[in-house]
Amino acid sequence: MGIVVQKYGGSSLADATAVKRVAARIVESRRAGHDVVVAVSAMGDSTDDLLELAEGVSPEPPARELDMLLTAGERISMALVAMAISDLGCTARSFTGSQAGVITDSVHGKAKIIDVTPGRISSALADGHIVIVAGFQGVSQDTKEITTLGRGGTDTTAVALAAALGADFCEIYTDVDGVFTADPRIVPSARKLDRVSSEEMLELAASGAKILHLRCVEYARRYDIPIHVRSSFSELEGTWVLPASAMVDDQGEAMEQAIIAGVAHDVSEAKITVVGVPDKVGEAARIFEKLAAAQINLDMIVQNVSAAATNLTDISFTLPRTDGQTAMQALAELQAEIGFESLVYDDKVGKISLVGAGMRSHPGVSAKFFSAIASAGVNIDMISTSEIRISVVVSEADVDAAVGSVHTAFDLDAAEVEAVVYGGTGR
Ligand code: ADP
Ligand code: ASP
Ligand code: MG
Repeated sequence: MGIVVQKYGGSSLADATAVKRVAARIVESRRAGHDVVVAVSAMGDSTDDLLELAEGVSPEPPARELDMLLTAGERISMALVAMAISDLGCTARSFTGSQAGVITDSVHGKAKIIDVTPGRISSALADGHIVIVAGFQGVSQDTKEITTLGRGGTDTTAVALAAALGADFCEIYTDVDGVFTADPRIVPSARKLDRVSSEEMLELAASGAKILHLRCVEYARRYDIPIHVRSSFSELEGTWVLPASAMVDDQGEAMEQAIIAGVAHDVSEAKITVVGVPDKVGEAARIFEKLAAAQINLDMIVQNVSAAATNLTDISFTLPRTDGQTAMQALAELQAEIGFESLVYDDKVGKISLVGAGMRSHPGVSAKFFSAIASAGVNIDMISTSEIRISVVVSEADVDAAVGSVHTAFDLDAAEVEAVVYGGTGR
């Protein structure tokens, strides 16, 4: 039998009992005859706890040391899972990301995996062990420093291991039964998808559906790896995230897809407005070059029409809240040079996105989307679209109502059962 690669998230490893339950599941796969490689996340919310601890010690900890600290969370899990496996009569070897051969670039806090050299994993498997790998971390090729992959990054570790080891697919075990048409924590009537194309999953993940890390979906697409997202608390079949090549039926015909895959929301972004920018060639370039030099990824960008009397315009954009202060400092340095009036920072915003490959060919989707938001009494602040997505920024307090209204307007509510959230705090 082939290699099975599994990932267990923090919500599936909340305490000692949970660790033993996960170990039993892993041993079951081993006893079914597979070679088993497992990527684990830090227990429960312990990454957030470590971040709070760091904040208590230093307001702006050096990025290298923060990565050293955060990778400790996954090391705790890997060792505990390996111990619990040994009590069940199998042998397991745990490895840090670096030991497992996860090679990254050198950007602390959001490193990209550039290669996986799984020599130690292969030898441990050949010796009959189950392999447990600490997720969310690697070692930089250039600096040799320990890096982390960004929040939720264990999903990416798992898919990268599956690709490097030639596994047929990657199993992501979490605290819900699969990918739903919306986050079941805010829409209990959300429906589980049996399958979703990696193209749509990419847009959902990029729009804040934190069920899968964005890079993990990108990686799976590039290496043609199907992902099976499922619950570690039930035996139910989950959701298959399939590359385009696999979205075909037994006859090789393209499978019929629903027009809409789902609604995602994101309350992790902030909005910055640069007020009173002189409307002349090159000013926007200066602003965005400055932000790029500070390694900040922007999301939506809107420039207002300039007022005829003043020839001044406002430029607004959204970015991760965690980068908010760095961006404000960088822009403040430009104020004298560009001569804009002021900067306004707003982190009480949220983004709602409707995703579906059918948008390409079905007119009327935007009209229905905007009227659903209006009927929830919600005001829209910014709008952006891609070929298969419409997103709006609204006030954070309005996010849940708007998501619910859009979900219902597109007939996504499940007729029968409420979605189950088995664990986790949703943090
Ligand atoms: P893990 O600890 O397993 O990595 P996460 O908390 O990172 O778990 O991700 C699982 C959570 O993702 C779910 O509990 C759910 O609240 C959230 N989520 C957001 N959007 C969706 C969606 N479309 N389908 C399923 N879960 C979603
Ligand atoms: N422990 C890390 C986090 O909380 C990585 C992960 O869970 O995937 O973001
Ligand atoms: Mg996660």
